[in-house]
Amino acid sequence: MTDSRLDATDPRTLPGFFDALADGDLLGGVCAECGQVLLPPRPACYACGSRDVDVEPQSPEGHIFAYTAVHAPPSAFAADAPYTIAVVELADGGRLLGRVTVDHADVAIGDAVELAVREPTAAEQEAALEYETAWPVHVFGPR
Ligand SMILES: [Zn+2]
Repeated sequence: MTDSRLDATDPRTLPGFFDALADGDLLGGVCAECGQVLLPPRPACYACGSRDVDVEPQSPEGHIFAYTAVHAPPSAFAADAPYTIAVVELADGGRLLGRVTVDHADVAIGDAVELAVREPTAAEQEAALEYETAWPVHVFGPR
C-alpha cells in the first residue's frame, strides 16, 4: 500500500507529474489492484477506486485513439486555429489528451505518434494559471 499523504512533489499530483515531464520523464499511475494506467497519475484509481497506485515510467509512443480539430479555441490560442487535438493510447495502455503537430486532414485513427515535450509559448504562459506557467507542454507528432 502506498502512502496516501501527498505533497506537490509527488508524481501522483499534477505539479509532480509536470516536474517529471520537464525532465523528459512521462510517469503514469498504475493501479496495483486492477492494472489501470492513470494519465496523468492520480492518488486513486478511477476504474476501481483503489488507493494503491504505483508510479511507473510510460512509453512516449502510441497511436491516435480519437481526434478532432479545434476551430474556436480560447482567445489566447486564436492564432493557432484550427489545430488538432487527440486522445492517444500509449504503448503501456494509458490514454492522454494533447495537441497533434499534424493538420486534421492528415490524421487518421491508428496513426503512430510519439510524445514530445517543449517549453510553453508566451500565449500558453499567459493563458496558464499562475502555478502552471513553468509547466512544460506535451505535443504528439508522427513517428
Ligand atoms: Zn484500479
